[in-house]
Amino acid sequence: MAKDPGRVLIFDTTLRDGEQSPGASLNLEEKVAIAQQLARLRVDIIEAGFPFASTGDFNAVHRIAETVGTSDGPVICGLARATRGDIKACADAVAPAARRRIHTFIATSDIHLEHKLRKSRPEVVEIAAEMVAYARSLVEDVEFSCEDAGRSDPEFLYEVIEAAIAAGATTINIPDTVGYATPAEFGALIAGIDRHVPNIAQAVISVHGHNDLGLAVANFLEAVKNGARQLECTINGIGERAGNASLEELVMALHVRRAYFNPFLGHDPASTEPLTGVRTEEIAKTSRLVSNLTGMAVQPNKAIVGANAFAHESGIHQDGVLKNRLTYEIIDARTIGLSSTRLSLGKLSGRSAFRARLEELGYGLEREDLDDAFARFKELADRKREITDRDLEAIVSEQAQQPDAQYTLKLVQVSTGTNLQPTATVTLVTADGAELTGAAIGTGPVDAVCQALNALARVPNELVEFSVKSVTEGIDAMGEVTIRLRHQGVLYSGHAADTDIVVAAAQAFIHALNRLVQGTERLPLHPQRAPLPVAERPRL
Ligand SMILES: [Zn+2]
Repeated sequence: MAKDPGRVLIFDTTLRDGEQSPGASLNLEEKVAIAQQLARLRVDIIEAGFPFASTGDFNAVHRIAETVGTSDGPVICGLARATRGDIKACADAVAPAARRRIHTFIATSDIHLEHKLRKSRPEVVEIAAEMVAYARSLVEDVEFSCEDAGRSDPEFLYEVIEAAIAAGATTINIPDTVGYATPAEFGALIAGIDRHVPNIAQAVISVHGHNDLGLAVANFLEAVKNGARQLECTINGIGERAGNASLEELVMALHVRRAYFNPFLGHDPASTEPLTGVRTEEIAKTSRLVSNLTGMAVQPNKAIVGANAFAHESGIHQDGVLKNRLTYEIIDARTIGLSSTRLSLGKLSGRSAFRARLEELGYGLEREDLDDAFARFKELADRKREITDRDLEAIVSEQAQQPDAQYTLKLVQVSTGTNLQPTATVTLVTADGAELTGAAIGTGPVDAVCQALNALARVPNELVEFSVKSVTEGIDAMGEVTIRLRHQGVLYSGHAADTDIVVAAAQAFIHALNRLVQGTERLPLHPQRAPLPVAERPRL
């Protein structure tokens, strides 16, 4: 990618680093839906996954490259360790994309060299150059990361970076993997690289960081001030531990304070020159899509996308009343695509209007899925007076979890009350068409349903989270249930919405169960080798 000092590239890693959040694993359809929305958001680069990990990971990157990697779409990138096997798998996975990138990395800190790699410094320089050159023989666009850059000897870091650029790297990424740096330190690290690496002008400087001290976004902004021009971030800041730097916070900081961050404008507050290519109006929608599909709720006070971030907007109709809005607001809610929960569709809306609205919301459904979703919409319209975009999102984000389902819910019935033992009867249909019926008692209706489903499915698991929230306002609101199950140390989440929360709980439980069943069937990319265990995936 051409280097432009007036442009900060947004590299989204929601589908790679974000998906490494415990319980956030996504299936292929969900990954493609998110990638399509990221393209609408106009991020510059999508890191779609780590293709070498397993067949499922490879297929997801390949499909995204095919469907989202059009000539006017984003660059599609895959992650690869500095080995030929990883790099080749990555090149094959991103091959269908018009613009494609291989992102490879090696550790540069002495502690990693000694204990993990068992290599000398000259050996690491040699491997970095050799693997970058190999990647460059397969694609035009190669990113190289210095793992644990923050703890590396700066002189050695400069040497590795120089060798990587000489070998063909076009982006150099500096990660703060453990989330330890402070803004001043991180800025100084970037400034040092910009000053001391002789051929740095031939590459874009990128940053990656985790939010363990809540400083990831602050560190990145300081890096921008010191010459970084690519930011690796995720929607809603999801990611391992405390998460990654959050895309929406970075983009909006660079948008609201564009004069401050633009190197050419001399801090002229009247300037309107944007620093990123992101369409901010797509931010709210993207945030909800990622939250719905990963089952990772956004905290209400989260900057930019939290439910309370624009709470004073609840009276958006009284627009004219509040004449001094700018006194309190630094961002107009419409800038990130929030409007009042406007009536989206009504009971009489037809299939084509339904489909068109879903496409605007970022969900392109296949015919059969569309039929199912439309049936659910009609059913909801009978029960609920006003159907908003949020209701539609709740219906279809659940739909996206359905393909390849091992179990589907046929019936759920509960009896409960003050003098009754809560009892649930459920019927499941398996993938091969068999019907299973069972009943159980529980401490409450939801517990009874979960007990009954668990007995039928016969997969040992532990329920570690159950949460309910309402999607919209009013007594007839849809309740949204998120359930997380743990099986052999791995979390699987399920999510569903219904005006009846017992039904939503049953659906969410089944979605989690289906993911659990799929997850335990992960195939290796190479028949002779097991898929990489989650714990051994690259930590960048
Ligand atoms: Zn990371």
